[in-house]
Formats: sequence, structure tokens, C-alpha cells
Amino acid sequence: MGVEVIVCGIGPAGRAVAHRALAAGRDVTVIDPRPDRVWTPTYAAWVDELPGWLDAGVVAAAIDEPTAWAVREHRIDRTYQVFDTAALQSSLTLHGATVIADRAVEVNTRSVRTAGGLTRTGQVVDARGLARSPRRAEQTAYGVVVDRTGLEPTLFMDWRADNGADPDEPPSFLYAIPLSPDTVLFEETCLAGRPALAPDVLRRRLEHRLRVRGIALTGAEPVERVRFPVQGGMPGRGRFGAAGGLTHPATGYSVAAALAAADTVVAGGAVWTPSARAVAALRRAGLRAVLALPPREVPVFFETFFGLPAHLQRCYLSGLDDLGGTLAAMGALFADLPPNLRRTVVTSVVGAARR
Ligand SMILES: Cc1cc2nc3c(=O)[nH]c(=O)nc-3n(C[C@H](O)[C@H](O)[C@H](O)COP(=O)(O)OP(=O)(O)OC[C@H]3O[C@@H](n4cnc5c(N)ncnc54)[C@H](O)[C@@H]3O)c2cc1C
Repeated sequence: MGVEVIVCGIGPAGRAVAHRALAAGRDVTVIDPRPDRVWTPTYAAWVDELPGWLDAGVVAAAIDEPTAWAVREHRIDRTYQVFDTAALQSSLTLHGATVIADRAVEVNTRSVRTAGGLTRTGQVVDARGLARSPRRAEQTAYGVVVDRTGLEPTLFMDWRADNGADPDEPPSFLYAIPLSPDTVLFEETCLAGRPALAPDVLRRRLEHRLRVRGIALTGAEPVERVRFPVQGGMPGRGRFGAAGGLTHPATGYSVAAALAAADTVVAGGAVWTPSARAVAALRRAGLRAVLALPPREVPVFFETFFGLPAHLQRCYLSGLDDLGGTLAAMGALFADLPPNLRRTVVTSVVGAARR
């Protein structure tokens, strides 16, 4: 059986580890103040990021070659997958685990103490997520679920300037994905901001954009609100998921990375190899560069990014430890940027290194 695995926090990351530890025959305890919380966010990922063991029934929609609009239209040569969130949660079964509805208050790599006074010892996985803080850049979004009127394209990112915002205001993009054969989620998204755009601003921009595109809202559509930190996770001390630094600074995504790394954690392997740490540092520098861009230049930056070959885009967006690929992607992006943006990128990265 090996040492008991004690998972603090059963969001997507903790639940994936607990599930895979059970599949490997380990004794598992999970601790979460709300272990029965039903996940509601619409999760998505690139199919090539997901582990083979994942149940095929967790897919709500799979989209070949989704579109990215920056200055021009690009088709991304990858398959994007929208999860059926309820199916994803229930597929990560916890049968056989000891479930403790409590808050972990003292978490070390070998022991946990809960607010209720319990102490457990074993292999501790700290997947308690990330708390919000004014010091951490956040991603925000406001979305509505609309009946499909035709074959709306899947828009991974659409930076076109038809959301009513002034070009010198902090920018936001449209994310549009099918949730089922009959419904589509339109979400106006602030990729990262400190502070990020407020939900009201995003709602107004979304309504403006959809009106311009001839998509009528009744006001009764189901709404999705997004707000979570894209900075602040730190490898080490058994931390995993968003708490352990798995959130990609450029997309805010961590669910696929957590699913993919769960078996490594169960086996006691190293997720944060020296290469993975270097890749994460480069991606954090990339986020600083994006945050430093003048708003009207953001679509130009993404025009350059989506002009990169698909394999370089993938190296930057996915996986944890392809240092050579990440450097190649960033080098190609830098070389293709207009000179004024290159200066901004250098200043933001060098400035941060000096602070
Ligand atoms: C609407 C929305 C849409 C999103 N879309 C995507 C997407 O498409 N793709 C993607 O990858 N990401 C997406 N994200 C981000 C994603 O939700 C997070 O990256 C992900 O939830 C992080 O997972 P986690 O398990 O590390 O942490 P969390 O999901 O934050 O889970 C932490 C868990 O720890 C528990 N906990 C907290 N404190 C304690 C404590 N003291 N003791 C014990 N347990 C504790 C909490 O109850 C919770 O269950 C989205 C987020 C939102 C809000």
C-alpha cells in the first residue's frame, strides 16, 4: 500500500491526485472544508495536454483548429476540448478514500493538522488553491450562455476592436466555445491585470460586441463569472495545482497540467525539474511583458504570437519542462515583434530583474 497519501483541497488538482493515488492502490485521505462542492466553471484544455487515463466521457465538445483573431484571423492547428465539468468531477472518483470535511491549518510535507484538531501523517499534497491578493495579477471574465443560432466559430481569443472599449483602455478579448450542440458560451475576458477589469466593464463590452455582431441577448441567459489569480503559486513543500505554481501565466490554465502531472506526484517524482523551473520563470517574464504593453499594442503582440508555427505556440502554451522549445518560441516571437514592442518587452523583463 505504501505511505498514505493525504490531499488537502479537492479542486481539480487535488482530486486528480487523490483519484490516481486510489487507482495505484494507495490509502488516501482527502481534507477539504467543502468536499461535496459541485464544480461549476467551464473548463477547457488542449487535447494533446491530457493524460491517456482520463475518461472519454468528460468531453462536452472537441474543436479542431479553433480560431484566434488578433489583427488577422488565424486557425490554430490543434484540437481544443471543452470539458463537461460535472462529468470531469464525477469521473475523478474518490471511492475508498477517507473524506474529512475540515480546513487544513498546518500543512507540512509529512503531516497535516486541521482546524478541528485532527492530525494525519503521510505523503502530503497541498492543493488548497490560491487566495486572491491585490499583489497578484488576476484573470477576470464575464460570460453568457446563448442558444446557438448557426455555426458560430470557436474563438480561442478574439481581440477585434468591436467591444466598445477605447483602444487606450485596458484590453479584453472574446472567448467563444460550444458547450453542447445547442449552446455556446460567449465570454469577454481580461487575460491578466493588476487590477484586472471589473465584471461590470466586461459585461458592458460583451453586450456591445454581441450587439454589433447581431447576437441578441434576452437578459435571461445563464451567466459565468471568472476571477482567479494567475500569479502567486510556488513549487515546493508538497504544493500542487494552482498552489504549486501550475497556473500558466499567459492563459490562466492549470487543470490540464494538474491532470497530466498527477501520476508523477503519486509516484513521488519531481514535477518541478530544473528545466520546468526555468520554463516557469520564462513564462512569468512573458506575463510581465504582456502586462507592460500599451493597450493598443496587445492585439499586435498576439498577432505575432499566433503567426508562429503551431509547434512553437504549443511549446509556449503547454507542457512544463520543454526548455529548448520554450526558448525557441520566445526567441521567434521576439524576432518577429515590431521594434517598438521589442523595446517594451526588453524594458519590462530587465526592469523586473533589477527590482
Ligand atoms: C469560471 C472559471 C473558468 C475557468 N476556466 C478554466 C479553463 O478553461 N481551464 C483551466 O485550466 N482553468 C480554468 N480556470 C481556472 C481553474 O479554475 C483553476 O486553475 C483551478 O481550479 C485550480 O485548481 P486547484 O485544484 O489547484 O485549486 P482550486 O480549484 O482553487 O481548489 C482548491 C481546493 O482547496 C480547498 N481548500 C481551500 N482551503 C483549504 C484548506 N485550508 N484546507 C483544505 N482544503 C482547502 C477548496 O475548498 C478547493 O476545493 C477557470 C476558473 C474559473 C473561475
